[in-house]
Amino acid sequence: MENTITEKPTYKSFALHNFRKIPQMEQLPEELKKEIEVVGSVLPFKANNYVVDELINWDNVPDDPIYTLTFPKREMLIPQHYRRIEKLIDEGASKMQIKEEANKIRAELNPHPAGQLEHNVPMIEGQKLTGMQHKYRETVLFFPSQGQTCHAYCTFCFRWPQFVGMDEWKFAMKETELLVKYLKEHPEVTDILFTGGDPMIMKNKIFSTYIDALLDADLPNLQTIRIGTKALAYWPYKFLTDDDAQQTLHTFRKIAHKGINLAIMAHFNHPVEMSTDAAKEAIKEIRKTGAQIRTQSPLMKHINDSAEIWAEMWREQVNQNCIPYYMFLARDTGAQHYFKVSLVDAWEIFRNAYQQISGVCRTVRGPSMSADPGKVQILGVSEVNDQKVLSLRFLQGRDPDWIGKPFFAEYDEETYWLDELKPAFGEEKFFFEN
Ligand SMILES: *Cc1c(COP(=O)(O)O)cnc(C)c1O
Ligand code: SF4
Repeated sequence: MENTITEKPTYKSFALHNFRKIPQMEQLPEELKKEIEVVGSVLPFKANNYVVDELINWDNVPDDPIYTLTFPKREMLIPQHYRRIEKLIDEGASKMQIKEEANKIRAELNPHPAGQLEHNVPMIEGQKLTGMQHKYRETVLFFPSQGQTCHAYCTFCFRWPQFVGMDEWKFAMKETELLVKYLKEHPEVTDILFTGGDPMIMKNKIFSTYIDALLDADLPNLQTIRIGTKALAYWPYKFLTDDDAQQTLHTFRKIAHKGINLAIMAHFNHPVEMSTDAAKEAIKEIRKTGAQIRTQSPLMKHINDSAEIWAEMWREQVNQNCIPYYMFLARDTGAQHYFKVSLVDAWEIFRNAYQQISGVCRTVRGPSMSADPGKVQILGVSEVNDQKVLSLRFLQGRDPDWIGKPFFAEYDEETYWLDELKPAFGEEKFFFEN
């Protein structure tokens, strides 16, 4: 055994059907359990024994940030939606009736923000590659079909429709053949980003088939393989004591030995997720393979909406050899009304946190919106000709020519997303609109 973690925990998931058996639930009032039942009928809900035993401080429930991250709460549905489901449950409605009503509500929650399903699907020989997305020139997203779930679900996740079985998931892809072919035909692509769900839910047996196919193809353009994952926060034993932990690390090593940069894009929302022995050890094990770990998180009210939390998180990440990468804003979907932070507030939190950290932590960029035209960063509030404006720029764009060009929007403290902004100085459109 390479790491110092000696117990070998068995993964156990908790969802609507068994959450009442969680021992820590006993101390909670019935009211909170009912909330889980009502909201969990509409939004995805999955926790696990690590999250429950190691991350949540049960003395601080319901305000605890990790409880809020993983357990459904009343305010995550608007009151009218909440009452519709609560009524059915109180009346003893059947599972089918509740599901029908839940689907109606889900359809009202903007299940596909930023044109997720329709846009950016690449083609090869007239065939749609539905398990891929190619939006930004250098980077292709790949959704392996066996990686479309997670070790637990985040209550704010914009991918929630796939977890509640609302769409048959159109993204997922089984074959690497077409992926390899596409990369050969697109020499401009340098990065492939495995995403999901969480690709680290895959057993190494499957994961390594994808990786081997890529490595064996000897693609001269392929420089970086990225893996988007929350496993370090939700199930670090994946890299420590799970049956395939050592093999998974071995697959990482193979990538590094091939001379390809391996970047684990780790999703951390709160410093507590980095505080356990298991998380620390897992980070070390991954780093030993030659992989980098870059970190990203959305900014979420009730979970991490303070500069102190972010400063602490970035410091801790650098101390543990991770590279802070992105701070995102909450997308307009699901429970966004509960989690959203205004653009102006987000910028202030970012700036206050950024001021508290050393230069080595300032690799992070944000706050950024992953919107339809691209990733847009809020640079801040400026005054131009005595007029307060919001200054923004593209970090990524459908058109690479948009990147890095500052542009201005009318100052408005009540805006939460790009499409709510108005161009400053009386202009009719932003430069990227036509
Ligand atoms: C964020 C993102 C990427 C990666 O962008 P980087 O700025 O290179 O990290 C690629 N594709 C899509 C669709 C994205 O949203
Ligand atoms: S781990 Fe990622 S994909 Fe999974 S629920 Fe959380 S945000 Fe969504």
